[in-house]
Amino acid sequence: QAKIEGRNTYRFFTSELTTRLERRICLEQGLRNAIKNASLRLVYQPIVSSADGRIVAVEALLRWTDRELGDISPVEFVPIAEEASLIGAIGQWVLLKACESVAQWRQTLSPNLAVSVNLSPRQVNDALVTYVQQCLDVTGLDGSALELEITEGALLAGSKDVLTTLTRLTEMGVSIAIDDFGTGYSSLSYLKRFPVKSLKVDRSFVFELPDDRDSAELTRAIIVMARSLGLGVTAEGVETVAQADFLRSLQCARLQGYLFGKPLSEDDMTRALIEAEGTPVD
Ligand code: C2E
Ligand code: MG
Ligand code: MG
Ligand code: MG
Repeated sequence: QAKIEGRNTYRFFTSELTTRLERRICLEQGLRNAIKNASLRLVYQPIVSSADGRIVAVEALLRWTDRELGDISPVEFVPIAEEASLIGAIGQWVLLKACESVAQWRQTLSPNLAVSVNLSPRQVNDALVTYVQQCLDVTGLDGSALELEITEGALLAGSKDVLTTLTRLTEMGVSIAIDDFGTGYSSLSYLKRFPVKSLKVDRSFVFELPDDRDSAELTRAIIVMARSLGLGVTAEGVETVAQADFLRSLQCARLQGYLFGKPLSEDDMTRALIEAEGTPVD
């Protein structure tokens, strides 16, 4: 009896592993064609000013709907794109598309709107500087309207050129934000070394506000530190009024989360901006 069970367990694990490998291979294959197929799209999530609730920026977030595999989360496919060396091409598509959309919104609806774009570590190289400059030239977007989000890990794992790359981007007016701040394990000295403009407080802290003492104190400490270093702060994953009130009381400058808006398609974002800003200008 035990032997039979053992064999079944073994078979179960093997088939699960096979399924996982198969899915991975499918996803990688699907991703190779995703740009050509037009199965990638961007959605945009509002980032609001905590002082007056106005939409000051949008974060561009990648979505992928494959004809056979359906909707796949970026949490699953971005790492695969990174490992399969597809993130360079996909990342370029994201940058151009995001710059185009926000340039349009600035012209018609919201002249000071900024856009935040997530970067993978592999994208942070010389070619990025050239490509960002091209995107700004082609779309006529001001560099100051573009913010690039990078995680602590990506900053530190990157090559020695990371500093040069980020410095050159900063010289173009582009700003650098640290994404998922507080989840890295590194020392904070990199904040001095790199030209960082702002921090995004990870939503694992925000989630437990305001009642969890540790999260509340850590969030307070991050916001106070950011202020004394002259850095901006955005809180991610704000879902409740109580969280927003707490963050406002700490003077966290920008808030992002389902409470203020879920990621929206380009058209829905346009409608949201019309509602927020009044009639479009021509
Ligand atoms: P992220 O950059 O930290 O993005 C924030 C994530 O939190 C998004 O998930 C967003 O939809 C989600 N979110 C926002 N507000 C709330 C909220 O109130 N509650 C909860 N529970 N979640 C909220 P999403 O879109 O699934 O993206 C996941 C991650 O995938 C991103 O995390 C980012 O690391 C990566 N990613 C997305 N788009 C891109 C991209 O274009 N390039 C790269 N390299 N990575 C991307
Ligand atoms: Mg982000
Ligand atoms: Mg992230
Ligand atoms: Mg984040």
